[in-house]
Amino acid sequence: CGVFGIYAPTENVAKLTYFGLYALQHRGQESAGIATFDGDRVHVHKDMGLVSQVFNENILNTLPGAIAVGHTRYSTTGSSRKVNAQPAIVETRLGTLALAHNGNLVNTAQLREELVQQRCNLVTTTDSEAIAICMGKAVDDGLDWLEAAKTAFRQSEGAFSLAIATPVGLIGARDPVGIRPLVIGTLETTDDTQPIRYVLASETCGLDIIGADYLRDVEPGEVVFITESGLISERWSDYSQRKLCIFEMIYFARPDSVMHDESLYTYRMRLGHQLAKEEKGVEADIVFGVPDSGIPAAIGYSQASGVTYAEGLIKNRYVGRTFIQPTQHMRESGIKMKLNPLKDVLAGKKIIIVDDSIVRGTTSRKLVKALRDAGATEVHMRVSSPPVTHPCFYGIDTDSQDQLIAATKSVAEICEIIGVDSLAYLSWEGMLKSTGQDPKSFCSACFTGDYPIGVPDDVKRSKLM
Ligand code: 5GP
Ligand code: SF4
Ligand code: MG
Repeated sequence: CGVFGIYAPTENVAKLTYFGLYALQHRGQESAGIATFDGDRVHVHKDMGLVSQVFNENILNTLPGAIAVGHTRYSTTGSSRKVNAQPAIVETRLGTLALAHNGNLVNTAQLREELVQQRCNLVTTTDSEAIAICMGKAVDDGLDWLEAAKTAFRQSEGAFSLAIATPVGLIGARDPVGIRPLVIGTLETTDDTQPIRYVLASETCGLDIIGADYLRDVEPGEVVFITESGLISERWSDYSQRKLCIFEMIYFARPDSVMHDESLYTYRMRLGHQLAKEEKGVEADIVFGVPDSGIPAAIGYSQASGVTYAEGLIKNRYVGRTFIQPTQHMRESGIKMKLNPLKDVLAGKKIIIVDDSIVRGTTSRKLVKALRDAGATEVHMRVSSPPVTHPCFYGIDTDSQDQLIAATKSVAEICEIIGVDSLAYLSWEGMLKSTGQDPKSFCSACFTGDYPIGVPDDVKRSKLM
């Protein structure tokens, strides 16, 4: 999911949030929502669909205020339904709170059960609503906004990056290991009498689009509270050890987002360099990436290996989610709605295709067939991450373990199944070394099964073989 928050009196916060969400659309395409606070009054609009489908100018005009949070969702817990769209809204003694969550709790069932026992009214099936209700309950028990938030965070186990709006301020927080990213930006104001305007976003691309400057990350185990008196920061957890999701870096986040002072485009290009360095030897005429996510690594591979880079596949940039099923004829002929091979580039060529990851292997198999049909004589696949062998419990929707091709098949078997002449993955060490950071500061559990946040057995059983 994508989260966005803004504290900016005198600005059109609904519009700024709309554009922030627009830049974070890749993080979730199922539903989108914005809640704004205009004094004590809250205004909410959320629905199924893309940001551009859910909002228009008229709807944004119904969302006045100085504080806003927004969300783009793809479901990991809770079904894909309108009622589960965020921000989650909860009424409290001190007024309404609106919460936008990215990540996935591992103790949702237990938390929900506790809330039901305390006669709390659960409307949705999401972990995010559970956090919001815990916070609301703590407010009703007498705590102020910040203390109530901290109480709710301490009850929550798993991955959470949050933007929470209240009538008086904006709260940002991350779980103690910081699995999902969350950054703070500032928006310049020409009016010195105005306080600094702060922005929260899942990724820096959400700041860039509204002209906000990156200030810093919200730290793992940190909570920030932004009000008319400025920004205060507190640690809500004694435990904190950085474990950023490495999948954010190799695939999920946008390539123009910056992490560790460089764009992910640059990191992904370095993954391609590393892939080429680890290459055991293959002869090819051209190399290209599977659009869009494989492209930076393919460019890096080309630079380091000397193999010519050429586009062999063109992506239809306007294919979003379509609910219209293709016709039987289209399905049978393996029609490429998203990716179309360039026959004259591919004909008679030995090619290397680079992708960021193989999850189920279904996309890769279809793609390889399409490349051969277009005339490629040899197809060699290189993957800029190691084999995905374990499911994610922290908010990336990889399937259960039995759906992950590398969980049950060797590289040689996968090579055969997807129909390539050779297949090689990047080493785990190479992936981590290329970050330039302490390798221990990342979660890479989907490649190792070494989960940094304990997952209860019943939750584990639901996805592990
Ligand atoms: P596969 O060959 O496993 O079917 O598909 C691999 C492709 O799926 C890669 O190009 C990768 O960019 C993309 N991918 C990796 N993880 C995810 C995910 O969690 N969700 C979606 N929709 N695509 C993913
Ligand atoms: Fe990211 Fe994989 Fe860890 Fe999930 S298990 S948080 S996808 S690195
Ligand atoms: Mg891809």
